[in-house]
Amino acid sequence: MKYVVVSGGVISGIGKGVIASSTGLLFKTRGLKVSAIKIDPYMNIDAGTMSPLEHGEVFVLDDGGEVDLDLGNYERYLNITLTRENNITTGKIYSQVIERERKGDYLGKTVQVVPHITDAIQDWIERVARIPVDDSGEEPDVCIVELGGTVGDIESAPFVEALRQFQFRVGVENFALIHVSLVPVVNGEQKTKPTQVAVRDLRGLGLSADIVACRCTQKLEKPTTDKIAMFCHVGPDQVVVVHDVNSIYHVPILLEQQKIIQQLSKKLKIESIAIPHQYIEKGATLWNDWKLLTNTHDRMFETVTIALVGKYTHLKDSYISVVKSLEHSALKCQRKLTINWVEATDLEPESNVSNRVNFHKAWHEVCSADGILVPGGFGSRGTEGMIAACKWARENKVPYLGVCLGLQIAVIEFARNVLGLSDAQSEELVDEKPEVPAIVFMPETSKTRLGGTMRLGLRPTKFQENTEWSKLRKLYGGGDTVLERHRHRYEVNPALVSDLEKAGLPFIGKDENGERMEVFELKDHPWFVGTQYHPEYLSRVLSPSIPYFGFLAASAGILNEYIRE
Ligand code: GLN
Repeated sequence: MKYVVVSGGVISGIGKGVIASSTGLLFKTRGLKVSAIKIDPYMNIDAGTMSPLEHGEVFVLDDGGEVDLDLGNYERYLNITLTRENNITTGKIYSQVIERERKGDYLGKTVQVVPHITDAIQDWIERVARIPVDDSGEEPDVCIVELGGTVGDIESAPFVEALRQFQFRVGVENFALIHVSLVPVVNGEQKTKPTQVAVRDLRGLGLSADIVACRCTQKLEKPTTDKIAMFCHVGPDQVVVVHDVNSIYHVPILLEQQKIIQQLSKKLKIESIAIPHQYIEKGATLWNDWKLLTNTHDRMFETVTIALVGKYTHLKDSYISVVKSLEHSALKCQRKLTINWVEATDLEPESNVSNRVNFHKAWHEVCSADGILVPGGFGSRGTEGMIAACKWARENKVPYLGVCLGLQIAVIEFARNVLGLSDAQSEELVDEKPEVPAIVFMPETSKTRLGGTMRLGLRPTKFQENTEWSKLRKLYGGGDTVLERHRHRYEVNPALVSDLEKAGLPFIGKDENGERMEVFELKDHPWFVGTQYHPEYLSRVLSPSIPYFGFLAASAGILNEYIRE
């Protein structure tokens, strides 16, 4: 097993995840099998209880793991399926060690950060790196290990020490490190000091960089590269730059041009791995497809505009998988994607009293969009605004996609405005039990223990009888079962379903017992679809999520062509 650690210095949030995924992708194009592990040095057991505004989207895996959004990057770039164990947190490591201590596993010993925590980290990495993650079902050859935060933080110290020990445990020829740093440009001058200090800190902790990857707004000048090489104890060809580019799909191409794989292969003695011929061919095809895709991306002119009506719009990373699914779909439809970010509270009449400008701006964004998307969310803030946007889409025959909360919003809207139940509401959104509960609490979940207790992960949805007309079903390929990932605590009230259906809102997809409403689709509408599941978690660059693709194609006015095909 070859390990490539990706760490960061200077500041966090400079694109370590994209550099890690892109490096993994490049190994894959050489025919190697690649897995990935993300280390998050926070105390939470997982990302499930964190606000998206704090840390970006919570990503959900097949096994129901609620994990850091970087695992989404890995799955999308590498086309792999990861497990909850591929996301290590301080909380997970400590709870494992504490549990062992209580069992008596360390009897007689003082349990300490070194060696007990650092050993637990190394054992975890070694064990999880070997889990097969792709359709070959075989053990991976390379594991990318991304260390969150910046080296030198108090939180990440045990992980840095564990990785220092790890290079000797696995052998130095099986361990390479990419340190991602920042080169700021001040008054036109590229400054190398932050990178020098960052690499010095890293070396002081016993780790040296095989590649120094510099994030910069511009390409590095030759003297900058030379200076970094000299002060960071690397050769000039070990200094690579990831300057700002117009799409992140270019990052693998940038790294390839700078021969990052040749450098890493030298250190890791990759030539010692026997790669079967068919994998080499598959890798080459993947690389060609990738290059073709980036070229297409640069040559798209016709646009499609989507209004994303949410409550976490101030941090775009809160909706990263949603945005990626729209991007993947737009690429396939050959349209340039524009997203109108609409904060749902701005659409609400009461709030416009204090800020009329935002109210009118927000409604302009909604009304001028080609399609309206209401993504997942928790809590009541903004939901009346979402309901208003949904009503507008339904009545004006503008394509609508409601995901999870977005499905629940559409059901409330339909119950209120078509069934005439003006008090229809979701139990989640009000303190007292609502007069007309359109959305209700699911008994097997918990309102009091919030960590990992929702209906989570990959589950089947069955298309119902006589739903062959459904555009969504046709796009899925016409079969009767689809598997998608879930994350919710509330559901459509089963007692209201027959009234909703009679009034014209058919639930075309349900769970395997026919009890849970999974998908609705309006018949006489260009695209009015809600899914209780989150299809964005399975979208891939080269094979976009079907509900998103249908929505985007309908918004671009070309859905019927695809359905005919
Ligand atoms: N808050 C809603 C629920 O728990 C929707 C969840 C979501 O959008 N992920 O059912």
